[in-house]
Amino acid sequence: MAVRPIRITGDPVLHERADEVAEIDDDLRRLVADMEETMHAAPGVGLAAPQVGVPLRLFVYSWTDDDGVLHAGTAINPELWQSPLPIGELDDEAESEGCLSIPGERFPLRRAERVLLRATGLDGERTEIEAAGWLARIFQHEYDHLDGVLYADRLAHPHSRDLAKVIRKRSWGGPGRSRLPGVDDVEP
Ligand code: ZN
Repeated sequence: MAVRPIRITGDPVLHERADEVAEIDDDLRRLVADMEETMHAAPGVGLAAPQVGVPLRLFVYSWTDDDGVLHAGTAINPELWQSPLPIGELDDEAESEGCLSIPGERFPLRRAERVLLRATGLDGERTEIEAAGWLARIFQHEYDHLDGVLYADRLAHPHSRDLAKVIRKRSWGGPGRSRLPGVDDVEP
C-alpha cells in the first residue's frame, strides 16, 4: 500500500467524467487500498479515484458519526438518488464543506439532506445505503467527483467568487498540480 499524490483543482482528470469500472481485479484492489491509505493520511472522510489521477468511477469513504458509529466502504460504479434541496438560508457553520483537491479551504454549500446510494463493493456485491446528514453530503461530494464536478463548481455567489480568488492566488487551476499528504500539507 502507498499514499498517492492528490491532484489539485485545475488538473484535467478532476474535471472530466470518469469511466465505469470494468472488472474488480488485483489492480483495482491495490488502487482501493492506496486510496484508503491516502484518505486517512490526508486526513479526509472521502476520496474519489480521479483525485489520485485515476479516471474510474469509484470512491472510498470513512466517517464516524456523533454516536461513534463508523461508516466506511468502497463504492464502485455508484448510482445516487437525492431528496430535493432544502430551501432557506445557508448555515455557514453546519453546511460548510471542503475538498482534498482544494486543500485548506471550506465554503458553505446546500446539499440534499437524504440520499440513496447503490454501488458495488470490493466483494462484487451490489448494495444500497440510505444516508442522511453528513454521510449524505459525503456521498454527494464524492459522487460529483466521478462526473468531473468539484464543490467549487456548485458554490453560490459570493462564495464562488471568493474561492476563485483563492485558486488564483495559490496558482492552482492548471494541470499537473498535486500534493502528497504528510509531505506537502498546506498550512491553513
Ligand atoms: Zn473532493
